[in-house]
Amino acid sequence: MIPRVRIAHLPTPIESMPRLTAALHGPRLWVKRDDQTGLGMGGNKTRKLEYSLAEAQANGAKTILTIGAAQSNHCRQTAALAARFGLDCILVLSGNSDQAPSGNYLLDQLFGAKILWAAREERQSVFEKAFQQAWEDGLRPYAIPLGASNATGTLGYVTAFEEFLSQGLDVDWIVVASSSAGTQAGLALSAKQTGWNGKVLGISIDQNQPGLQQRVARLVTETADKMGKPMLVSPEEIHVNSDYLGGGYGIMGQLEIEAIQLFARTEGLLLDPVYTGRAAAGMIDLIRKGFFKSEERVVFWHTGGTPALFADVYQSGLSSAD
Ligand SMILES: *Cc1c(COP(=O)(O)O)cnc(C)c1O
Repeated sequence: MIPRVRIAHLPTPIESMPRLTAALHGPRLWVKRDDQTGLGMGGNKTRKLEYSLAEAQANGAKTILTIGAAQSNHCRQTAALAARFGLDCILVLSGNSDQAPSGNYLLDQLFGAKILWAAREERQSVFEKAFQQAWEDGLRPYAIPLGASNATGTLGYVTAFEEFLSQGLDVDWIVVASSSAGTQAGLALSAKQTGWNGKVLGISIDQNQPGLQQRVARLVTETADKMGKPMLVSPEEIHVNSDYLGGGYGIMGQLEIEAIQLFARTEGLLLDPVYTGRAAAGMIDLIRKGFFKSEERVVFWHTGGTPALFADVYQSGLSSAD
């Protein structure tokens, strides 16, 4: 058994979205509420971190280090986790220190994380140096990679898929935001292992289609190895759409704003400007283009991110929306 610390509020509910379905004249839609996993306002990282933390504990870690964007949900959830388990937390965030605390960055501070800022191109080397330094200082650091997307973290979405199957909702498609790839890799791995009939469609947040397909396929292979159930998967088997990259990572455009409004106004559901807003925008556009058959059933896997709605950078875009 691969060790796991149980933190998440599971199983997360699946809800139908009848008013969104009607508004889009589309296939029947559901939402899997992984924005409600608990741990510092929830999101998909809670499931991954259950495995990362168990590994950190097995290594005798006293400090958790991780890395991400200024408004990283992963870093915010890691900071909450560290606080809850009495560990120190060091976050390497891309950006600069003169940002006003808001959204996830405000929460990082409330959870007591130590924050190191680095330019985007330098953050990986700053991260590695910080790890080395923490080691030399006797802080017993344990490093979690970007998005907790290694084989360990990906296990969180292998078990998430098993949970989804056990909830008994028969769907043809899972649509999910995909970036550092662990979420989609875990779902795709478990879908394949269980012989599931449906498809897992990742809407890419920040990479071209072949790049993300490769990344997901590689993580599937690594994770299957870790589970002792080796499996070959080719990048072409992984369903990725990268038509919705917009202005790039973290840039909220009209498509994301419209998707956020539509979910809010038809279902009272909150998305986020970076991940779920973009993935929902992709799903909405695909529905309008007739990509899904009308008798098909689709679940939008909500991965969280809601605190980013309150980040300063998105306020004018969201409030000027009518
Ligand atoms: C990290 C994150 C994702 C992407 O998950 P990956 O496993 O990195 O592909 C999607 N949505 C939200 C809200 C996230 O924080």
